Amino acid sequence: MNKSNPKTSSDNYDVVVVGAGFSGMYLVKKLRDLGLNFVILEQGGDVGGTWYWNRYPGARCDIPTVEYSYSFDKELEQSWDWEELMAAQPEILTYANQVADNYDLRDAMRFNTRVASADFDENENSWTVVTDTGDEYLARYFIMATGCLSVPNWPDIEGREDYAGRTIHTGLWPHEKVDFTGLRVGIIGTGSSAVQSIPEIAATAKQLKVFQRTPVYTFPAGNHPLDDDFRADIKARYEDIRETQRGSLGGMAMFGVMGRLQEVGTEKIADCSEEERERRLVEEGLPSLRRYADVGLDLEANELACDLYRRHIADIIDDPETAKALMPRGYPMGCKRQVVDIGYYEAFNRDNVSLIDLREDPIERINESGVCTASGQHDVDVLIYATGFDAMTGAINNVSITGRSGTKLKDKWENGPRSYLGLQIAGFPNLFTVTGPGSPSVLSNMLVSIEQHCDWITDCIHHLNSNGLNTIEAEQQAEDQWVKHVFEVADGTMLTAPSCSSWYLGVNIPGKPRVFMPYVGGVGNYRAKCSSVAANGYEGFKLG
Ligand code: FAD
Ligand code: NAP
Repeated sequence: MNKSNPKTSSDNYDVVVVGAGFSGMYLVKKLRDLGLNFVILEQGGDVGGTWYWNRYPGARCDIPTVEYSYSFDKELEQSWDWEELMAAQPEILTYANQVADNYDLRDAMRFNTRVASADFDENENSWTVVTDTGDEYLARYFIMATGCLSVPNWPDIEGREDYAGRTIHTGLWPHEKVDFTGLRVGIIGTGSSAVQSIPEIAATAKQLKVFQRTPVYTFPAGNHPLDDDFRADIKARYEDIRETQRGSLGGMAMFGVMGRLQEVGTEKIADCSEEERERRLVEEGLPSLRRYADVGLDLEANELACDLYRRHIADIIDDPETAKALMPRGYPMGCKRQVVDIGYYEAFNRDNVSLIDLREDPIERINESGVCTASGQHDVDVLIYATGFDAMTGAINNVSITGRSGTKLKDKWENGPRSYLGLQIAGFPNLFTVTGPGSPSVLSNMLVSIEQHCDWITDCIHHLNSNGLNTIEAEQQAEDQWVKHVFEVADGTMLTAPSCSSWYLGVNIPGKPRVFMPYVGGVGNYRAKCSSVAANGYEGFKLG
């Protein structure tokens, strides 16, 4: 195996990559196969990215992990036995570590190294990448594999710094086990991270107070341990499963192992009698609401499903006031990333769990001993922020990136991200983004999208090298057309409904422009487009 050894600072590389999550890890394999000289810079202490940082109790995959795994390693596909349908964080991190060990990936990586800036030199056609300690890395190509959900969002709540107890963000969870036994815990947020962690924390904490601003639509995960027969069946069909993923809408083969992942049917909720809708809800539970063809497309049909959803909550929550507060309303089901849970609503029936509805009782400030809301003081020993991320653009904008003519990427993206295919940005030659805005990324099984991007980028670099070329840059017109297309495809879906406030739209971060960032046109269509662009001599790119 041709290994690359990271050299000392100011060395010249063919490629500098930022990030050692699943994207950066796969890039090591790909860049090594090309025999290139490269280095991976990672601010964390090891590989795994998302799964290295998000160690909160209950953290796990929200799709079958047999599908959320690398397809490039056929041996590992056959030898790895996933314990559960939706593996928990420790198992996914163990998997990442196994891949890193098998391929000696760490040899190419520098940990505890945060990239602060990157400047394109138009004379040399190269990037100068500088870390926060001032080390410089020069490279022809610069790849941001920095993740879509890697910059934790700390909400700007008055007095946050005054709190004297222990503060933890779900996205920066400590490596050692946090023992909540006998403690009063507060958690702010009710998105995926909170929904996963609340039942687990509630099981051991003396008291758990959930500070909820927006109630969530969440569906039963349908997780279960896997047995040998299941695994053998998947292993025998892996080739087909991967092929189906690559041509699918969301990067999933959807092989019907869990109710919630059944394909959307052809039947419309609007055409069903009320009796029929109720009967299905009783028989199939909440997943039945996801199967109607019109719920994702028509706001009135969506509201019918939301209404049934709320009635279902009323049935499972003992306290009517809590049930009412937990009922999502005012925004459509499906406008945010689907949340799945294991015992979320049931946790609110416990005596040690209480819900503070911030719409009725807003936070006034955080103080030394806890959270002060309009109705009074909530003293807690630990305060958890499950407040999400500056998604998709956060990690890219955190690096001061300067392209041609001194243009700052942050300025170019002031009104929202613009890129061609989510892979390259006009004015920023030889810079690639893995799962960048404008690509399916967070709307898909991300390992499928990660592999596709890393394959495309490394094939592109190989093409340039083989043809004596040393620059590639998105054409402005191609970028404009792609951005327009990204908006057009999303228009009219629940994802961009005026009442929707999601991190896909950037609105979870104060001051961030409301712009829909991922590409909803489907993994299969998108892959075909990227492949045809490459086959047609990198249509829409200037090669130099
Ligand atoms: P990341 O894993 O985010 O890795 C990026 C790395 O870049 C990080 O380690 C970060 O430290 C590093 N980095 C960033 N900026 C810098 C810098 N300036 N200098 C140095 N290093 C830097 N997706 C799914 O498809 N299915 C799931 O079930 C799923 N579950 C998720 C659960 C959680 C809790 C979260 C937060 C996300 C989940 N995702 C899921 C999305 C997940 O982020 C991707 O699946 C995938 O792990 C992303 O890999 P990545 O390598 O592209 O990015
Ligand atoms: P999130 O979905 O953005 O949820 C953040 C929560 O914090 C929301 O409930 C939000 O309320 C609340 N919040 C933010 N600022 C607040 C403030 N100032 N005051 C009160 N509440 C505030 O973040 P997340 O739960 O970390 O999930 C982010 C994404 O990561 C997911 O959508 C998913 O893609 C991924 N993820 C996946 C899994 C999984 O199941 N595998 C698990 C975790 C994360 P508002 O809604 O009112 O803004």
